[in-house]
Amino acid sequence: MIPFLDLGAAYRELKTDIDAAVARVLDSGWYILGPEVEAFEAEWAAYCGADHAVGLANGLDALILALRALDIGPGDEVIVPSNTYIATWLAVSAVGATPVPVEPDPATHNIDPARIAAAITSRTRALLPVHLYGQPADMDPILEIASAHGLTVVEDAAQAHGARYRGRRIGAHGDIVCWSFYPGKNLGALGDGGAVTTRHADLADRVRVLRNYGSRVKYINEVQGVNSRLDPIQAAVLRVKLAHLDAWTDRRRAVARTYAAGLGDAEVILPHVPAWAEPAWHLYVVRSPSRDALQARLTEAGVGTLIHYPIPPHMQAAYAGLKLAPEALPLARQLADEVLSLPIGPHLEGVDMKSICQALSTGG
Ligand SMILES: *Cc1c(COP(=O)(O)O)cnc(C)c1O
Repeated sequence: MIPFLDLGAAYRELKTDIDAAVARVLDSGWYILGPEVEAFEAEWAAYCGADHAVGLANGLDALILALRALDIGPGDEVIVPSNTYIATWLAVSAVGATPVPVEPDPATHNIDPARIAAAITSRTRALLPVHLYGQPADMDPILEIASAHGLTVVEDAAQAHGARYRGRRIGAHGDIVCWSFYPGKNLGALGDGGAVTTRHADLADRVRVLRNYGSRVKYINEVQGVNSRLDPIQAAVLRVKLAHLDAWTDRRRAVARTYAAGLGDAEVILPHVPAWAEPAWHLYVVRSPSRDALQARLTEAGVGTLIHYPIPPHMQAAYAGLKLAPEALPLARQLADEVLSLPIGPHLEGVDMKSICQALSTGG
């Protein structure tokens, strides 16, 4: 069986360094925030080309606290992709604002800048593009629309560690960028983790206060904050893995190249990469009108695949309240029916890629 992703292999490759980093935190006697979290924040900000990073408990909290730091709340609208992981929408709803979906460019699966203007109303406060599958969204037109309408840009970069847009790493194009370090992400902890990066000192400061009970000084509470702190053990693990992120992204790129070369005969639509994009290849997503049969065939051949995502947010019971008919967002619906994620990761073996390509090209 070729697994969709082998997280154990990632740990085994770095086991000596990770074990030492964890032991360092255990021995330090410091278990909440502190030097390990601060060191990771500095290293992650530098990697992203941002001035500030704030470590948080998970990616959903990163999105929620970014929106709270911008004072987005009830009565406000935030423009989100119609096809994304539901966390993007849930963050908007969690602050009491309304997610307003915009359909993707079907070639890139990312929010279509040409469709954004029509969705802007007097209540719109922010644009929330997602760099889906690790493919950077087309940021220049998104930033232009935002600036023309006086809107903020919040990025969901939970799948885009190390991706580049027009040569610059994702992490500081918009006003605030939200990260997840969930174990399966390209930079993954051994548990939950998240962060925001930003060039705005005031936004970083607001998130920093919000993540720690709204408190800067112990027992002095400026705002009604939450407890959403990056764990120092996870920060120590992330520091070890960050040193390998570029090398591991290169290995993902090699997998993507092998697929592109090996799937020429297969009856699937391969990912489209615009000239200005250097994807992080979090996922390798192909499309087929007969997706379910394709997935069954691969399962039969011993190849693990996943669907990102089988039900678009507007068709989830969680969003029945928005009263959006399934056909209101036809592209999101069609992509949910047609996408299939093939195994990809820094530890996928060449022989396994070969059998995956074979299974896809020969019909079994
Ligand atoms: C993983 C993910 C999140 C949420 O991150 P968690 O750390 O699991 O809370 C948000 N948005 C997208 C696009 C994701 O892939």
